[in-house]
Amino acid sequence: MRNYSFKNTKWLNPGHELDYIASIITRKNNRFYIVGSEKEISLFWEISGKKIEPLIKGCILTENNDVINSINNVPVIKDTDIIDDIYSIIVCVSQNRNNYEANMNLFSNYGFDENRQFFQGEIFSQVYDVYVDDYLSIDRVEIFVTSKCSLQCEKCIAYIPYFKKTEHESLEMLKADSDLLFSKVDYVRKYKVLGGEAFLYPDIIEYVDYICEKYGNRIGSIRVGTNGTIKPSRELLEMLKRNRVIVDISDYMDTLGKRSKLQEVITICKENDVEVDVKRTGEQWLDMGFPNNKPLNRNEEQLQNHFHKCAFYCRDFWNGKLWFCCSNFAAVRAGLFDENNNDYLDFREELSKKEILEYEIGYSSLGHTTFCEVCRGCSDEVNPFHVEVAKQVVIK
Ligand code: SF4
Ligand code: SF4
Repeated sequence: MRNYSFKNTKWLNPGHELDYIASIITRKNNRFYIVGSEKEISLFWEISGKKIEPLIKGCILTENNDVINSINNVPVIKDTDIIDDIYSIIVCVSQNRNNYEANMNLFSNYGFDENRQFFQGEIFSQVYDVYVDDYLSIDRVEIFVTSKCSLQCEKCIAYIPYFKKTEHESLEMLKADSDLLFSKVDYVRKYKVLGGEAFLYPDIIEYVDYICEKYGNRIGSIRVGTNGTIKPSRELLEMLKRNRVIVDISDYMDTLGKRSKLQEVITICKENDVEVDVKRTGEQWLDMGFPNNKPLNRNEEQLQNHFHKCAFYCRDFWNGKLWFCCSNFAAVRAGLFDENNNDYLDFREELSKKEILEYEIGYSSLGHTTFCEVCRGCSDEVNPFHVEVAKQVVIK
């Protein structure tokens, strides 16, 4: 999840940072208005809308549409219809940051303050679930299974070419990690298994079978990431099919040419009823700067601002710890950056669901990761340095 709405995430009172907000959104006499596109509002309805359905009084569409009069029997209204309603709570479900901020500015002109009467939809849902139902769902967790890869991409976000020693993670540790993660988290929307190259991990079948058998009903979608250079074996395809795993395949054809087996991997997956999701077609990567072009020193205020603008969505769970930033994790795992207990949450310690939720939003002792000091960031809002995907290096 990308946090657009909480700008100061320095922990002052862990476990209670969201108490005041929760007291607002759980008032019995609230009238909720959902703002977003028709698609975004419908998605919100599936995930959270049903829980507050009687209190939802209107939907406000961000796209020009005179045809839709209602969504789920709730009327579509105009933004100006609610400005005199003091119990109005706006839930903005726009996924795109620019759209979110445009709506926030619009409603702030009507007197609706962010995190008082105007909320980011995903955060609203998570806070509501934890405070009302004691139910913690997190958006996305990556599981790093191997640092071995068939490629050596210069700007790899996991710094694979720079690992001092590449190896497969132990199956026992990965299983224990999943048990620990699900002992404190109720639901993970996207559970992604990757490396390196996940198809090279020798225990991938046993690992994914284990996850799906034990926790499949607590995972929205389970995905395995591959760079499209390795054709999956029959046994692997059978496992992917029986567990309804989605294969995320990176399209590196422009850079790799025939070395990419993208079309063959897609075909063999489809022939075996395995769903695929092709990523990165026509895209560019962001050059994070690390390890060779680290940004200049920034002060604390600049670092918090940088962290907030980056709004990274990619957590990593490894060896009992939930890392906020998967790139930070990878740099530590590669032996390139010092481990710092500001940058992860140790699940072997006592943790409340409220603390984990705060961490998921971005709270930490510093209010940013220590790796933000050496990283240009992983969003267009903060990092203008684009590079071609999958350019290969030769490490001496
Ligand atoms: S394919 Fe490239 S980007 Fe992906 S893990 Fe391997 S080296 Fe990194
Ligand atoms: S380390 Fe980089 S990618 Fe991670 S949160 Fe900070 S700026 Fe974003």
